[in-house]
Amino acid sequence: MLKKVLAVTLFLSGLMFSGGCSEEKAVSEADMSSSSRDVFAMDTFMNMKAYGSNADIALSEAEERILQLEEELSVTSETSDIWAVDHSSGAVVDVSEDTALIINKAIEMGNKTNGALDITLYPVLKEWGFTTGDYKVPDDNTLISLLKNVDYSKVHIAENTVTLPKETEIDLGALAKGYTGDEIMKIMEDNGVSSAIVSLGGNVQALGSKPDGSNWKVSVRDPFAPDTDMCIIEVADKAVITSGNYERYFTAEDGTVYWHILDPKDGYPADNGLVSVTVIGDCGLDCDALSTALFVEGYDGAVDFLRSDPSFDLILVTDDRKIYYSSGIADCFTNISSMEAEVISLD
Ligand code: AMP
Ligand code: MG
Repeated sequence: MLKKVLAVTLFLSGLMFSGGCSEEKAVSEADMSSSSRDVFAMDTFMNMKAYGSNADIALSEAEERILQLEEELSVTSETSDIWAVDHSSGAVVDVSEDTALIINKAIEMGNKTNGALDITLYPVLKEWGFTTGDYKVPDDNTLISLLKNVDYSKVHIAENTVTLPKETEIDLGALAKGYTGDEIMKIMEDNGVSSAIVSLGGNVQALGSKPDGSNWKVSVRDPFAPDTDMCIIEVADKAVITSGNYERYFTAEDGTVYWHILDPKDGYPADNGLVSVTVIGDCGLDCDALSTALFVEGYDGAVDFLRSDPSFDLILVTDDRKIYYSSGIADCFTNISSMEAEVISLD
């Protein structure tokens, strides 16, 4: 809980950085007025800030939408789409357009990342206790047996209906906040808001630039010291989404640390050289799916992905304390940590 409070505090302090990549412009008083809203949903403290005369209306609609999405996507609410799918015993289940769209994206991203993103890992996550906080290290036989039912390609989706094999269960935790951010941005735009920023846990999404025309300053946390910032990037109209091993973890009796992002290959916490992955792009849903998947894939897999799709930017932190960032953000990236930072080479 403390960590999440800190995340929001740090984010807000990140916004106070000044200077930037873009020109200042004159704005009226009305454009400058801002409203903000705090919401606790999806197990996360969320903060939204919007500028302009319709900011309050937009924030209220956004809050309603967040609660609606939480209700549809929750794995623990007995009235959610995901609960219905997970308790369907193989029957066809009708789901909302939101749920269908996210599941389709999860399958697409699973395909694009060699199965690193797998929404059917849920029973394995439960076994580790990551869903309840009642942590334990599962024995290998239990993992092997649970992994037999892990395979996102067996999720069958046709329009707004979903069918799962009997023993399979899904969880959209790796993508839900990215989609929620996109939906908030749409609500802002529909209400005529052109300048807004939201922080949904480790997910930051920015609409437009600051009202004075300068870019938003978004801080990314240091995975080795999660109470401090590691770098600042300056963005407009972008999602900046981070997956890190520090976000949820436990330390076993023998001192081994286990975290919440699992490798579908063996059911263990993904340990492929990365401790934090930040994905910067236009679509929160894509960036959220990718941050989790590339964390699993490791440095080489992440760089391969970047080669195949340079429309994203990445900030990777390796377990030997180095920061690698893509050339697309070189002009807007400031390292404020003691770690070395270098541009990712695609050669
Ligand atoms: P994120 O913070 O977006 O990286 O999402 C992490 C969450 O996604 C975890 O807490 C799990 O609920 C879920 N998860 C963990 N590993 C995977 C994986 N390999 N594929 C899909 N979801 C995962
Ligand atoms: Mg994610």
